[in-house]
Amino acid sequence: MNDEELHELADKQAALGEVRGTPARDPVNAPMIRHWLDAMGDENPAYLEKGVAPPAMAQVWTMPGVRRSAKDRSPVDDMMATLDASGYTGVVATNCEQTYHRHARIGERLTPATRFTELAGPKKTALGVGFFATWKVTWYSEDDEPVAEMLFRVLKFRPRAGESRPPEKEQAAAYPLQPAINQDTAFFWEGVKQGELRIQTCADCGELRHPPGPLCPHCRSANLAYAVASGQGTLYSYVVHHHPPVPGRQTPFVVGVVELPEGVRIVGNVVDCPIEEVSVGMPLRVTYRRMDEQLVLPMWMPGEA
Ligand code: ZN
Repeated sequence: MNDEELHELADKQAALGEVRGTPARDPVNAPMIRHWLDAMGDENPAYLEKGVAPPAMAQVWTMPGVRRSAKDRSPVDDMMATLDASGYTGVVATNCEQTYHRHARIGERLTPATRFTELAGPKKTALGVGFFATWKVTWYSEDDEPVAEMLFRVLKFRPRAGESRPPEKEQAAAYPLQPAINQDTAFFWEGVKQGELRIQTCADCGELRHPPGPLCPHCRSANLAYAVASGQGTLYSYVVHHHPPVPGRQTPFVVGVVELPEGVRIVGNVVDCPIEEVSVGMPLRVTYRRMDEQLVLPMWMPGEA
């Protein structure tokens, strides 16, 4: 479709108004809440004591799963599929604003309703030319009470040719999976090149955070600094990647979440250790691997307890 036709489709989708989806496959339940609290490191006992879910779980209850059926389609899906087919295949989320009306209670079954609100563009962005698509999801209780809302905006962009494909000569040497290095993350990669594991800190309240970002989630300060981590850690969680094949890597390999004694977690490969000996809680230490002429990646090898 051309730009005008894309806008026509967007207007059509918006005119559908709020479209109800299928009710959640499972009611709000304690096991899922426990998994979430574990994963988030949230030790607040109030949720399970009061029989309610953390509000930020809103989306969890109605995720359609990998085998989506046609009846799970929302007005957004048709818009996204058409943008893909029109060459705007790149996607990056830009905004997510959630509003919570009340806690979802254990035992109740939520139903999502989606309203496509806006298609803006085409606009030139750093990633390429694209459209910003915005929609709103409201989760309703069985008696039609809104429990939570989410405004979601994505940029669907046309990946720039020429940049995604380096010249033939470099292509042979360069590691195919380059990290996205930007203003917020440059200090980290600069540190890695020098054999330092740098963790962003807030220059005002001193709170550590990883991955790096523009604002301190603790005090909202934009004044940044960093600390150099000791390079010790313990394996908090991991997966063994067997499939699909990853360019530049040999499968299987281990992707770990490493807990640093400094108080943050970082994702990295666990290397120099037979896969069957990898276990949660094992002591690790950082090691730096040169992937190509430019890129060094921090990885983790067995360390001393
Ligand atoms: Zn702060």
